[in-house]
Amino acid sequence: MGKNLTKRSEDYSRWYNELVVKADLAENSGVRGCMVIKPYGYAIWEKMQAALDAMFKETDHQNAYFPIFIPKSYLSKEASHVEGFAKECAVVTHYRLKNSEDGKGIVVDPEAKLEEELIVRPTSETIIWDTYRKWIQSYRDLPLLLNQWANVVRWEMRTRLFLRTAEFLWQEGHTAHATREEAIAEAETILKVYATFAEDFMAVPVIKGTKTEGERFAGAEETYCIEALMQDGKALQAGTSHFLGQNFAKAFDVKFNNREGKQDYVWATSWGVSTRLMGALIMTHSDDNGLVLPPKLAPIQVVIVPIFREDAVLEQIRETVSPMIEALKKRGISVKFDDRDTQSPGFKFNEYELKGVPLRLAVGPRDLENGTFELARRDTLEKSVVQAAGIEDKIAGLLDEIQENIFEKARKFRDENIREVDTYEDFKKQIKGSGGFVSAHWDGTAETEDRIQKETKATIRCIPLNPEATPGKCILTGKPSPYRVLFAKAY
Ligand code: AMP
Repeated sequence: MGKNLTKRSEDYSRWYNELVVKADLAENSGVRGCMVIKPYGYAIWEKMQAALDAMFKETDHQNAYFPIFIPKSYLSKEASHVEGFAKECAVVTHYRLKNSEDGKGIVVDPEAKLEEELIVRPTSETIIWDTYRKWIQSYRDLPLLLNQWANVVRWEMRTRLFLRTAEFLWQEGHTAHATREEAIAEAETILKVYATFAEDFMAVPVIKGTKTEGERFAGAEETYCIEALMQDGKALQAGTSHFLGQNFAKAFDVKFNNREGKQDYVWATSWGVSTRLMGALIMTHSDDNGLVLPPKLAPIQVVIVPIFREDAVLEQIRETVSPMIEALKKRGISVKFDDRDTQSPGFKFNEYELKGVPLRLAVGPRDLENGTFELARRDTLEKSVVQAAGIEDKIAGLLDEIQENIFEKARKFRDENIREVDTYEDFKKQIKGSGGFVSAHWDGTAETEDRIQKETKATIRCIPLNPEATPGKCILTGKPSPYRVLFAKAY
């Protein structure tokens, strides 16, 4: 298999699209903007899901499931929510097809028109809060800490595999609380969960912050986010956690008797990460040879490639590596012994490099004699000859080291690409140039934010959490600004 990947320096965007397809992660489907996630890509997503799900449960959340369809009237109950999502909703109007008059095809049966049209969920606040009204009467019913794993549909016009698709997979948490403080604490807890997951599992360094009013989720009082930096200097919003105030409780009339015996509206949060994380993972670590996967999310952590011509040698190799494979599996390390005789070792090396398998062991007749393996690291592409004795410890140690190494590499890149800028001239130059995060003063108004976006395509990615006071002057208007915010061009 020739890799023939476009180089990142030539065309980053093309490199990404090719890599997703060639590494067998996903491909475009017959439906515009909707992708097919292939088994190898789905295996990575499943590992992400498992880790996140455990973290949600650790923080006392439970999973549930709500319908994919939302009655149109529900969506319109929260004014800013509907305004935010109306532009990208798929609507079900009929429930039956029939043969066309000319007998040549099928058409929608006009008699099967739905009395109330249904929206394919773009997010589930409305149907969930309509349900919560029935579940919540008293402070004793709170907090309610639910999550669902689901697909959602947002009719995006410009799509790209994983990063922005019309249908995507995600989890959405929806929690209900007795007090404002508790709901804010929940939104912040989840932000920490997301940041920990991104850094410890994906090895993607993130900046925690809040969105400006213009970038906030439709219906939220505050949107917390984690922002990552891709290798081409563009930012990617990797997860959001919203404090929804009492907006949805008011829209759906969800009241409870508080401890003082008084009626009050319930406080809410919602939060989600999606298959976009796959895009973040790919774009952060991968190189011109293909994927680089963090060991914690790699479906195959170690691959063993036997070098053989005769079957007898293959059997000898199999005998030698079998106890080692057993020992590695016992430690929870996933190993693949690729004994296919339909592909050459060189083909296999290429394939596993392209697929980002963290460690590759090759073993041939000479190694059998010497009691050695050839070991190759995907992150550094280093090769070495190692002794078979004690190799399990060595592998376990190396997997940890690779996890750490790719995180450090990404962190260094990110840190080197955060630049403080004090004039609009420098700002424009930087955004046009190598990009990255630009830390600059802003006067806090939507007008300034809009103008900067129109003129440079950069947006305010976030206001870093708990910013220390560093008064200065807005780069555009010169008006006073209490602290710097982070700008970038983003996916
Ligand atoms: P939101 O509900 O808009 O806060 O988005 C929740 C999560 O889904 C965020 O982490 C977004 O990055 C992600 N997301 C939003 N739109 C898309 C899309 N079209 N494709 C993939 N992920 C998305």
